[in-house]
Amino acid sequence: MSNKVTTRFAPSPTGFMHIGNLRTALYSYLLSKSQGGNFILRIEDTDQERLVEGAVDVILDTLKSTGIEYDEGPAKDGGHGPYIQSERLPIYKEYAEKLIADGHAYYCFCSKERLDSLKDENGIGGYDGFCRDKNYTAEDAARHKAEGGNVVIRQKMPTEGKTAYVDVVYGEVEIDNTELRDQILIKDDGYPTYNFCHIVDDYLMGVTHVVRGNEYLTSTPKYCLLYDAFGWDRPTYVHLPLLMGKDDEGKVSKLSKRHGAVSFHDLVNDGYLPEAIVNYIALLGWCPKDTNEEFFTMDELKANFSIEGLSKSPAVFDYEKLKWFNSEYIKKLPEDVYAEKAMPILDGICESYINTKKLAALLHTRISYFNEIKDMIGFVTSRLPMDGDLYTNKKNKTNPENCKEVLVDCLPILEAVENWDNDTLFAVLKEYAASKEKKAGAVMWAIRVAVGRQAITPGGATELMEVFGKEESIGRIKQAIEELN
Ligand code: GLU
Repeated sequence: MSNKVTTRFAPSPTGFMHIGNLRTALYSYLLSKSQGGNFILRIEDTDQERLVEGAVDVILDTLKSTGIEYDEGPAKDGGHGPYIQSERLPIYKEYAEKLIADGHAYYCFCSKERLDSLKDENGIGGYDGFCRDKNYTAEDAARHKAEGGNVVIRQKMPTEGKTAYVDVVYGEVEIDNTELRDQILIKDDGYPTYNFCHIVDDYLMGVTHVVRGNEYLTSTPKYCLLYDAFGWDRPTYVHLPLLMGKDDEGKVSKLSKRHGAVSFHDLVNDGYLPEAIVNYIALLGWCPKDTNEEFFTMDELKANFSIEGLSKSPAVFDYEKLKWFNSEYIKKLPEDVYAEKAMPILDGICESYINTKKLAALLHTRISYFNEIKDMIGFVTSRLPMDGDLYTNKKNKTNPENCKEVLVDCLPILEAVENWDNDTLFAVLKEYAASKEKKAGAVMWAIRVAVGRQAITPGGATELMEVFGKEESIGRIKQAIEELN
């Protein structure tokens, strides 16, 4: 086999892509690409009870939109296919029989009732090796099966000694072989267990580095024993720390729904950009050497990634940080790409007299994800209750009284404006301020409060008036005057 670095992403099709899984895919991809290696996508669907329709598409879509491109995988055979485990059943059978022939595995006929009787009151209990030395043959197995019996193939674990391996991130992991149970390799339904088939596949597909979540850290000695039983070289193991989330009380636990959106698609639906998500999660457990740079394109990640930068301390997914990254990515979007995402949201909720194009432009540098637009424009879609204190501003020396004077003065001036755009409105109000020897800031303040009706608005007085259009702006000013009376 070639010694080209080969990694794989081996998701089970569960119907959604957890951010932690996406990070695994990313790191696995980057490890290979940083070394000019090969990256394989393999679908692990042998748990037939947990199959979800359309789940493979979710995986393919996610990889596509994040730019994680596989060299080999479904519909892209690089000579190691098929890449969907349910299509590889004869291969697993062949290799399991090989192990039986070599004395490393055996047929087990134990009934469900017998296995249940081995469990304690908590339903926990391992296999006791009852069939281990029975030496059942393939013919015995076929007969037992035909008679309605249970037939599985189990791995024959060593009963003494220790098994150890060195994980790249966690260091040496060792287990006492007496702790190992004779695990099932092939189930009664003929499907292999994950424990078995991923070994066969990783070997046959030439995987040199296994990158995956650390939930497999302590079961990996069992997998190493399978490599040894076959006489194959073990791969390099790179287990990644869990992704954690922080709840409102500051408690940290495995990232889950109670922390917020945890699937890639949920984040995208909220208006996070795939590039920003990728950039952010790349830094959750990996740190670039020799640079403090935080922004990385996929090509830059490929160039900078190295195993040494991986950390074993659990990384905490920080939604605020993701928002910040995303807002920076949104700011950098070309106007037309931004508009393509923002306009449908605005047009969906704004009355037709609202200048949504202008509003979109005002929001471009102010949102951190696209759905935030909905929260930010409540003051546009309805006239909010007025808080009279808003008229008071120290810097501009404004108060309700002098603001009312400005509004009353400006109402007829604005009614006479024909070209209702920001520049014209700005010029008109400035001229008024000069004629009355008022600070332009004070005039703008009064108008902005009257029209916006909230403390902080995206854009100043004249920009808001352009957004609202003439009729609504005048209507809001009239209402404000009435309220001040
Ligand atoms: N199908 C396994 C999972 O999704 C893959 C684990 C591995 O990468 O070996 O957790």
